[in-house]
Amino acid sequence: LSGRTLDLRDPKGFPPPADELPFARALRGESVFQEEWSYTPRNRSGSIVLLISAAPFHDKEGTIIGVVLSLRDITAARRMELRQKRLHNRVEKERTLLQAILGQMPVGVIITETTGRLVMANNQAESIVGCTFKGPHLVNEFHGLGVHPDGRPVDQQECPLARSLRHGEVVTNQELILHRDNGTQAAISCSSAPVLDSRGRIMAAVLMFMDITERKQAERELLDIRSELEERVRIRTLELEGANMAKDEFLANMSHEIRTPMSGILGMTEIILQRDLSQELHADLSIIRDSTRSMLTLLNDLLDLSRIGKGSLDLRTTDFELSEVIDSLVRPFELLAMDKGLTFGVFLDQELPVRVHGDPDRLGQVLKNLLQNAFKFTEDGGVRLRISKQSETRNGTVLLFSVSDTGIGITRRNQAKLFTPFTQLDHSRSKRYGGSGLGLAICRQLVRLMGGEIRVESRKGAGATFRFTVLFKKVRERQEELKVENPLCLADLPPLSILLAEDNLVNRLFLRRALTSAGHRVTEAENGKEALEQLQLESFDCVLMDVQMPVMDGIRATKKIRTMRQRRFSPRIPIIALTAYAMKGDREKFLDAGMNGYVPKPVDFSELARTIQYVMK
Ligand code: ADP
Repeated sequence: LSGRTLDLRDPKGFPPPADELPFARALRGESVFQEEWSYTPRNRSGSIVLLISAAPFHDKEGTIIGVVLSLRDITAARRMELRQKRLHNRVEKERTLLQAILGQMPVGVIITETTGRLVMANNQAESIVGCTFKGPHLVNEFHGLGVHPDGRPVDQQECPLARSLRHGEVVTNQELILHRDNGTQAAISCSSAPVLDSRGRIMAAVLMFMDITERKQAERELLDIRSELEERVRIRTLELEGANMAKDEFLANMSHEIRTPMSGILGMTEIILQRDLSQELHADLSIIRDSTRSMLTLLNDLLDLSRIGKGSLDLRTTDFELSEVIDSLVRPFELLAMDKGLTFGVFLDQELPVRVHGDPDRLGQVLKNLLQNAFKFTEDGGVRLRISKQSETRNGTVLLFSVSDTGIGITRRNQAKLFTPFTQLDHSRSKRYGGSGLGLAICRQLVRLMGGEIRVESRKGAGATFRFTVLFKKVRERQEELKVENPLCLADLPPLSILLAEDNLVNRLFLRRALTSAGHRVTEAENGKEALEQLQLESFDCVLMDVQMPVMDGIRATKKIRTMRQRRFSPRIPIIALTAYAMKGDREKFLDAGMNGYVPKPVDFSELARTIQYVMK
């Protein structure tokens, strides 16, 4: 067993001097205990690791006569150790890498095993929580720190880490308030997820959380600002609604106040105009009448606009003959065209329906406005009105109306402003041509109400064409057979005894004149109270009752007439409301109060006659 026979090498692979071999040393009397040597057996490739012990063996005299040698092959164990060491090194390397990555993450990260033991936590986690994790059970440690945003303590079952570890839940953005050891607080948003092994079993859980204190604070401030803004908007809206209602109320009142004296002026002027007057006086009075009429038109425009704004403008639809409305509409313009030396052409397409169902007055209002503008802004050339059928549907017929002129035209920029109320395109024009700038705004709203649209096409200096469509419903057969009634006048009625309750002296005078000259007997009252007194004294065929009167208004008086106990007149006596009020719902209000009919001021005698005839039936 010399060194050469057994080629032993030290663990580093070097052959030792022969006298260093365990055997040789034992022969010299040394005990060798479990030394590691490397050996390459002849019949194998690669070396093995031997654990060698050697002890001298003595005779009785103590002379060394042999050696006891023990050899153990520990190659497998050594390889295993080596592999484990490498594995350990690799794990350590990966752990360091993971730690470095986690260290760079902007959120706190904590990884725990199923036992709750901490595997890893990054610096952010500790700085957000404000402590170093050291307890044996991190889940307990962590959940004890937080409360819900409403202050409720977090139950251990609710802790995101516990939910992921125990039930494999994935938790996203659970908000908690963290109470740190140093007494400060932080709002955090936590997400957690389980980590599964290759067989799908939970082996760990990862918790990620970030400090959202500043974000929450900003959100709170934003919410505060928002609710403050909402409150301001609410208050402002209320104020505006109040102001708007007040405006409408004011407009209605003003229209009443203005219409009452105006209807007096107009009525009286018309009565005087019927007299035998000198030519000069007739001409002067005609100017008064025409100016009053234009004031009334303006007033009506304002009222229309207010009603459109409130959505309370209703169409009064009926069946009518298109050509009749167009004929009476264009006649004054034919005269105007002659006056101004302009041509005026009216073209109606062949296939137009003869009768249609719609609002003839509103259609006339739109056309009149467009024709007036066309004539107003044209000095040379002429104006053309064309009506054609655009389409026919199950609901009715869509007609296209177009009014073109060869006048001053409108720039593209100004066209955009045309249909906005109170817009006149430039001061020099409005000074020269007059007008309120309301017409086209009203036209557009009316056209929309009639189921159509209005557009303009124009170039500066090259005339303008306004086109609009209107949807007319089909004419109902039954109505088509109805004959058009001839206008009725007050004198067509049988002689009646009429009680007239009206506080305005001029109106009273003018109505009395009109009625008495038509053969009726009129008794006057200045207010509702006086009317009641008159009714107790005399008998009447009907009452004309102004709505707004001092002492007792028309509505209260009517209610009294209908319900009074001790009376000497029929409680069903016909009562007709006279009013300048023309807001939506007024008609219903008067009828609810017990009135039988309604005539707006300025009173149109034919309408008054029709209404009297109707209520006396
Ligand atoms: P106004 O009562 O002032 O005429 P409108 O709303 O009818 O109000 O018209 C507004 C403005 O549009 C007019 O003042 C005028 O400047 C312009 N305009 C309307 N129609 C025409 C037209 N046919 N040609 C040129 N300009 C027009």
